[in-house]
Amino acid sequence: MKRDVRTTVAVVGAGPTGLLLAGDLAEAGVDVTVLERRASESNLTRAFGVHARTLEHLDARGLADEVVAAGAPIERLSLFDHLKIDLSTLPTRFPFLLITPQYNVEQVLEKRATAAGAHIVRGAAVTALRQDADGVELTVDGGTVRADYAVGADGIRSAVRNALGLPFPGKSVLKSIMLADVRLAHAPAGVLAVNAVGDAFAFVAPFGDGWYRIFAWDRRHQQPDTAPVTLDEIRDVTRRALGTDFGLQEARWMSRFHSDERQVPHYRVGRVFLAGDAAHVHSPAGGQGMNTGLQDAANLGWKLAATAQGWAADGLLDTYEGERHPVGRLVLRSSGAIIRMAMIRSRAGRLARNVLGGTALRLPPVAHKIAGTISGIGIDYPRAPRAADVPLMGSRRLYEALRDGRFVLLAPDSAAPQLVGLHDRVTLAPPTDTAMPWTLVRPDAHIAWRGGSSELDAALVKAGLNKQKPSGPRPPSPLRGRNGPCQES
Ligand SMILES: Cc1cc2nc3c(=O)[nH]c(=O)nc-3n(C[C@H](O)[C@H](O)[C@H](O)COP(=O)(O)OP(=O)(O)OC[C@H]3O[C@@H](n4cnc5c(N)ncnc54)[C@H](O)[C@@H]3O)c2cc1C
Repeated sequence: MKRDVRTTVAVVGAGPTGLLLAGDLAEAGVDVTVLERRASESNLTRAFGVHARTLEHLDARGLADEVVAAGAPIERLSLFDHLKIDLSTLPTRFPFLLITPQYNVEQVLEKRATAAGAHIVRGAAVTALRQDADGVELTVDGGTVRADYAVGADGIRSAVRNALGLPFPGKSVLKSIMLADVRLAHAPAGVLAVNAVGDAFAFVAPFGDGWYRIFAWDRRHQQPDTAPVTLDEIRDVTRRALGTDFGLQEARWMSRFHSDERQVPHYRVGRVFLAGDAAHVHSPAGGQGMNTGLQDAANLGWKLAATAQGWAADGLLDTYEGERHPVGRLVLRSSGAIIRMAMIRSRAGRLARNVLGGTALRLPPVAHKIAGTISGIGIDYPRAPRAADVPLMGSRRLYEALRDGRFVLLAPDSAAPQLVGLHDRVTLAPPTDTAMPWTLVRPDAHIAWRGGSSELDAALVKAGLNKQKPSGPRPPSPLRGRNGPCQES
């Protein structure tokens, strides 16, 4: 890396969160530099599931079809024993969980970010960060990167979070989880095999190339993360949880890890933001970690772009924490509840769980609520509900119209005169449903406003869509007082 670099937004970390964000900023025309510690791309996969809401976000970027084609959809998500969550009735184009390795998603995101002009610098570990009223300075292997804004998408041990002096409160929920990438003599009957029986839990998912990932956990045999894993141990736990080890033959990689539940108290300090695992981590139950990070990025990208280009509404950047922190908390709770229920030890407790859980999941409102929360389809922001895909005149859909990265106004062609001067920021898209109220959809597919034609001008101004676009960025709102090395100097 060159010794001193100047950029508008520095994104630390080229995991899924950082790559989606970098692509959004670059496509919006913002100069963005991604600083990634690893020298080469990672082929180590952690996440396996892409949920419906994430697929909608990928659809709004023209990427969903490629990701879906490389994966296997499952319509029913097994929790434990016979309890399953039915995703097939979700009101979305993607009523399923897509099983695909995390590196497939990362490759698609990296290709798009690079094509849009994001600079991805590998072998660039950020070691320190300070900010003042004008910008952020990051120390990278002896050189410096000066940026207007920085985003820590640098994972669970985030150097950015540490440099901000922010705590990461929470605790370990599950110790000694074994991971193994294996070959099996007999493929599991469904795409996923997952169950918890007594003291054993196992999960088997395909990579799609003949290799499988097994997660196995044994309450009776808790070891430190450094203890070696043996194939016999994996076989034994898998048999107890799933009734078979599928003729487990060989492993190319095995490891042990522990799972934490933690969330940072603030997602923003001045000009620095946290997203993805740097901001929240939780158990892998429900497969929501990568999804939540990608959705953080989708929320933050357009807000940072609007601010960098000088037309953001007042306080827009603060809405990132306001909207995403509660979602992170909800995910911590829901994934924590699944893992705790899965690990109930006593036979009586498991029986009660299965009876009560089975009864609850047969009640449509409860089943829809749970499916909506896990898939992300049910997650609305208090002032900006999720926008459902709707058909548009001319055989297009809303999520296709969102691919320009602009706001979309769902209204008849007669609204065009009210958008004069805004064509670089708002796309007019008449819906086929002519009775639909006029609806302004944000670039992240949440609804900014709904109403009648007479209220549109005020709604546009409130969304920052003034017809006179300022020539440069506005100064950010004042840095919030907080102790730590990143205080405004
Ligand atoms: C076993 C397991 C199974 C999981 N299964 C699922 C699942 O099914 N579904 C799901 O949604 N999620 C799952 N997750 C969680 C998911 O993998 C993470 O939530 C996701 O990877 C977070 O993405 P991220 O981009 O925020 O962070 P990361 O993927 O951790 O990326 C952070 C990047 O920052 C880089 N970096 C770190 N420090 C620095 C530095 N100082 N300077 C520069 N670069 C730096 C790292 O090298 C890395 O590339 C699972 C996790 C585990 C452990």
